[in-house]
Amino acid sequence: MSIIVYIEHAEGKVKKTSLEAVSFAHALAAQTGEGDVVAVALGTIAEEELAAVGSAGASKVMHAADSKLDEGVIQAHASALAQAYKQVGAKTLVLAKSSLGDAVAARLAVKVGAGLASNVVELPKTDSGYTVKRSIYTGKAFAFSTITTDDKILAIKKNAIDLKTDGEAAQVEQFEAALSESDFASTITSTERASGDVLLPEADIVVSGGRGLKGPENWGMVEDMAKILGAATACSKPVSDLEWRPHHEHVGQTGIKVAPSLYIAIGISGAIQHLAGVNSSKCIVVINKDPDAPFFKAADYGIVGDAFEVVPKLNEALKAE
Ligand code: FAD
Repeated sequence: MSIIVYIEHAEGKVKKTSLEAVSFAHALAAQTGEGDVVAVALGTIAEEELAAVGSAGASKVMHAADSKLDEGVIQAHASALAQAYKQVGAKTLVLAKSSLGDAVAARLAVKVGAGLASNVVELPKTDSGYTVKRSIYTGKAFAFSTITTDDKILAIKKNAIDLKTDGEAAQVEQFEAALSESDFASTITSTERASGDVLLPEADIVVSGGRGLKGPENWGMVEDMAKILGAATACSKPVSDLEWRPHHEHVGQTGIKVAPSLYIAIGISGAIQHLAGVNSSKCIVVINKDPDAPFFKAADYGIVGDAFEVVPKLNEALKAE
């Protein structure tokens, strides 16, 4: 028996969240004795990139290289995964919580009759039953859910699991998934990046600006910092309402929820509705001229100062690194 992990990839690279899912599965297999970890990758991706998934703990990667599977065709991915799952005789499938992961997991749960738990943050308790700790209410609380089916699907919250990096290269095997026309009933014909070099929902670092930046003309220093750090840019709601920045950059309760390793908030007060979208970030750095700004209470590091002085100096220092 093996644990199956669904691998997501973009632009030729396996996503870090999928490596976290593999690391989780590796630890889970050690806990439950479910054998090894078999990753399943769908679509065009280089063999060396797939072999590197072994570093996170997969012993094998089943690869369906059909280019028709490239653009997240959800139904086809769910069908292919169900076949791999049955072929291997798995009882557990692990994947990263994401919009694609959610869509695939729900369909797969129906196909294989599995109980599904999403936003999982740690290994399940299996001494009596199978209880999973899940993050809810945008990271403000935890729910403990019991899965009662033999088959289980666990969607892992981003940045909740330590990445294993010391495994050996995985063996990559070609895998032929039998897919029908109905699996491709709806397909993505093209995609277009909205803006920036790094996509906000998946960014590992986010540099975000608020109304404290006074106007759209002052966003250059935010973009500079994002470029230096390889980060995505984001903003508070009023900033997008004022059309200083596009709406798809707005984070918070009514915007995108992000959980990067590092969230840098510049000139943002830290209203509860903003925090709802960012408080799952691993490390929060706040730059605000008001020492009583509420955001400092949620910050790991804070700089009290004028953004127009602090940010250019920080950028110079970061460039010099
Ligand atoms: P402000 O509250 O105006 O804060 C600006 C901050 O910049 C202040 O703390 C100030 O000290 C600081 N500052 C000023 N000048 C400087 C300077 N030179 N250098 C450094 N710091 C400076 N908001 C969201 O962001 N996301 C949401 O999803 C969201 N959803 C909402 C949903 C509802 C139902 C409601 C009612 C509100 C929602 N809001 C949301 C709005 C939210 O309540 C706040 O009004 C908003 O987050 C404030 O944005 P801000 O911090 O950019 O602006």
